[in-house]
Amino acid sequence: MRSDNAIGPSRTGVRVVKKPSYVVDQSRLQRFDVRNTVFERITWDSSWKGHKQMYDERLLDTVAEGKCGYSRVDVALTCASWIVHDAFEGGFSWKKIEIQRTPRGSLGIDWTKTTCEVNDTRKMSVCVKRAARLFGASLIGICKLNRDWLYTGIEIPDEFQNVIVMAIEMDLDGIGTSPTALAAAATGVGYSKMAFTLASMGEFIRNLGYEAIQCGNDTALSVPIAIDAGLGELGRNGLLITPQYGPRVRLCKIFTNLPLQLDKPIEFGVKGSCKKCKLCAKHCEAHAISVEDDPSFTVICQSNNPGALKWYVDAEKCYLYWCENGTDCSTCIKVCPYNIASGRKTDLSSKEFWGT
Ligand code: SF4
Ligand code: SF4
Repeated sequence: MRSDNAIGPSRTGVRVVKKPSYVVDQSRLQRFDVRNTVFERITWDSSWKGHKQMYDERLLDTVAEGKCGYSRVDVALTCASWIVHDAFEGGFSWKKIEIQRTPRGSLGIDWTKTTCEVNDTRKMSVCVKRAARLFGASLIGICKLNRDWLYTGIEIPDEFQNVIVMAIEMDLDGIGTSPTALAAAATGVGYSKMAFTLASMGEFIRNLGYEAIQCGNDTALSVPIAIDAGLGELGRNGLLITPQYGPRVRLCKIFTNLPLQLDKPIEFGVKGSCKKCKLCAKHCEAHAISVEDDPSFTVICQSNNPGALKWYVDAEKCYLYWCENGTDCSTCIKVCPYNIASGRKTDLSSKEFWGT
């Protein structure tokens, strides 16, 4: 059965289930302290090797070495890919976005002042998903906010009961060149698209008279929320595996008080596949992904959040590899068998990417 949040290529064998497929031990589970992500730890954790190491520090040397996939042109593309994400603060706004010019298409009416009554939550969910698709989301799911997934110190008012979770597909060819700068460009485009989609969706909800908190990787853990919303399952590589694109998506979410019909979680056999497949672990240059047959509750490093039964990824080793590589890596996305697109090639050279 295909879940009704699915957009794009479908996969057979997807079942809608009552409970999310992850297993948590409530006695060990705690809200994640965002200061423990490697990106935060580089700023404060002097006990860690990655302290003050920026992963693009080596990029100039790498370009000078003339390595394939790290040319001047390739790197120009990577930097360009992030521009909307980095320059447009409104993408991650928690409030109506202030604009300097006269707003278009609104006759100057402030639609946020009146509330659009919702008599049929199913219909409103359909409208929200259609809007999200118009604004660039590849997959959309809706779930109740589980406050266990909020980062420590984050308080979201009680009336924000629902989360709209959106997955943005990343370019197959770009990711296929991982770990080059071209794969990093595919990631950057994912983040820039996220800013556009979030901003447009947040404004849509506010124009209906409700509130919207737009988030990327900030504020709460995206993967378990996406599982709650029926977008996929957790993979050995620590990423959300979707039936449509595998792990080749970026995730963003909107917390809202808009009344909506919720989606149910899905299962399509990821846990069983990951037990045997191990391709992401075999291809990871950093040996950051577990090769154990079974998931466990044992964390590997300070950047893991305890309490979930999973294959914990050594985020420290992963980040140090990025530093060595001079740019970020998506190899555990590229090699995943769920990363499929109508039989197209998923491993490309930079020449093949550019078509030169
Ligand atoms: S991003 Fe690259 S280095 Fe990090 S876990 Fe995945 S394959 Fe390994
Ligand atoms: S590559 Fe294989 S083991 Fe890794 S996440 Fe994908 S299916 Fe699971």
